[in-house]
Amino acid sequence: MTDESMRSDAHKENKGLPIDRWQVAHIRSPEELIADYSLPRPHLITEILSRRLVMADGGHLSEDDIWQWSVAERLRALASIVSDSGASEFSAIAACLAADCDQLIQLNLDLAAIRQPSDVDGIYCFVSSGERLQLRLPTGTDQRTLLKLRDADDLGLVREMATRLVVSVDGGSLAPDTPCPPEWISTIETALAANDPAYYTEEIVTCPECGHDNPVEIDLEELLIDRLMQQQEQLFQQIDLLATAYRWSESAIVGLPEWRRERYVGLVSRR
Ligand SMILES: [Zn+2]
Repeated sequence: MTDESMRSDAHKENKGLPIDRWQVAHIRSPEELIADYSLPRPHLITEILSRRLVMADGGHLSEDDIWQWSVAERLRALASIVSDSGASEFSAIAACLAADCDQLIQLNLDLAAIRQPSDVDGIYCFVSSGERLQLRLPTGTDQRTLLKLRDADDLGLVREMATRLVVSVDGGSLAPDTPCPPEWISTIETALAANDPAYYTEEIVTCPECGHDNPVEIDLEELLIDRLMQQQEQLFQQIDLLATAYRWSESAIVGLPEWRRERYVGLVSRR
């Protein structure tokens, strides 16, 4: 199934939700496929997305555009890139936390569910002191800014992020340079999680061995990046094999449709 038809199917199941403004581009050069996986995660994601996506009308997408996307949309785009390579589901492994049990549990995750559009117009919540907050989802730019504050402790970072995501308080604005009260943080986190289920994923997983219920935090970003990194490693091995066997250039090998590349790899391997 092509990416385009998967997208229109997803749209049919969710009447009224917007269709993606972007699509996964066809690969034409190694630069579009090969990313530097040693970059800090927000930078890596921006690099991958800017190389692999184009606007739905075929127009160019800049890194600046992609930094402005919500973290949820960036995740959805990553999932689209992974599913463009033919994957429909992928799995994570968690260890059982019960004492005396070292069972590993496999979790199967559905890529189509992550790829569902979930654009949110406005997120509102009431804090215990009665104020009504309007919130927004975090963006790539927020993540990049937080990277620079790495010296702050975890609570400091969470509070800084929560403050950045408050759009208004009772219709007015937060006082400039004032962090939000610490007691707002859990309310803000809950409201964001309810509007962004793909990103904040915690599941209770029952151990098949001992029956213990394990709360498992699933880092979808990391899992998707791992998958893309494995694909890149596989591509490097194919390039190495085919360049050695046929003296083809890196760009000629990457430019081959995947099924043809795999066919040649099969032929060379059988020599
Ligand atoms: Zn167990």
